[in-house]
Amino acid sequence: MPTQIGYGYVKGATEITKFIDLPIPEPGPNQLLLKIEAAGLCLSDPHTIIGGPLAPKPPKPMPTKFVMGHEIAGSVYRIGKDLEDKPQFKPGSRFALQINQACGACEFCRRGDDGNCSESSQAYGLNEDGGFQQFLLIKNLRTLLPIPDNVSFAEAAVCTDSVLTPFHAIQKVRDRIKPSSKVLVQGCGGLGLNAIQILKQYQCHIVATDLKPDIEKVAKSYGAHEFYTNLNDSKHEPMSFDVIFDFVGIQESIDISNKYIKRRGTLSQTGLGRYKFKMPNFTFAFREVEVFYNFGGSSAEQLECLQWIAKGWIKPNVQLVDFEKLPQAMQDLTNNKIRGRVVFRPNKL
Ligand SMILES: [Zn+2]
Ligand SMILES: [Zn+2]
Repeated sequence: MPTQIGYGYVKGATEITKFIDLPIPEPGPNQLLLKIEAAGLCLSDPHTIIGGPLAPKPPKPMPTKFVMGHEIAGSVYRIGKDLEDKPQFKPGSRFALQINQACGACEFCRRGDDGNCSESSQAYGLNEDGGFQQFLLIKNLRTLLPIPDNVSFAEAAVCTDSVLTPFHAIQKVRDRIKPSSKVLVQGCGGLGLNAIQILKQYQCHIVATDLKPDIEKVAKSYGAHEFYTNLNDSKHEPMSFDVIFDFVGIQESIDISNKYIKRRGTLSQTGLGRYKFKMPNFTFAFREVEVFYNFGGSSAEQLECLQWIAKGWIKPNVQLVDFEKLPQAMQDLTNNKIRGRVVFRPNKL
């Protein structure tokens, strides 16, 4: 059987493991083999291996071994028997993948909220084989989302997580964002920079914060009107916000939200920097702050995100890195040395 290389999780290992002899599977009926053209690196990847602040204990038992990489785009390489008369799956067709394996039939899927599918806990690259390899067998065709012609594989790959997640968070509080609204984006990493670009289309006043001063230029080029490494440096005191997006998710970011949110303000939590933190119960209640939590998004929202990229409204900040350098890139991400989103092309060796 032909083999391929990949990188992934092995139970007990403290670093990502290189696999040199993964089988290249043959697609069965109603399956296809996807050639991986681009796969993005996310902070959830090191967290999957080291546990860390994100998940001291995974919610379900993990398999002993799987290929990681959950931001995936590819082209159809081979199709199973039943798909020969389906032109949408002909070899060469370009697809991004919905990360979670939605069933399509549960209460949540039926109302279009398939990101919250209650029947499946399987997710590419997070607890089953994903994109850090050359070929991936697709058993659930529902996870295939067509990529518009003028969107690159790299952009489509990062769209599945680092664009979709902020997009979903913003859509949930869309009615709170007016042209006169003052909005704070905490954290200008992979998610925050895309959030700024999405918010720009809604004409609000955007203030961005990040501890890294060198990210100011790119945050402003994407649409932030003001940028601070420390909000206390603002000359526009007293500063308060109608809506705050927290893409950091640590005690300090909650404390900042507590200090700067308006009465009746909206707080949108997305960052998973810590597994737990303390919420300011009294002050949030007293000011009637509304708090929203977010995780991923739906496949319909992901198709919409791909259209936004096609129209040039979102330009994901993508950095191509050699596939062989994946372990080092993961270290760099853990040590906060990465700017933008790292993408690998496993078939360009
Ligand atoms: Zn991720
Ligand atoms: Zn479902």
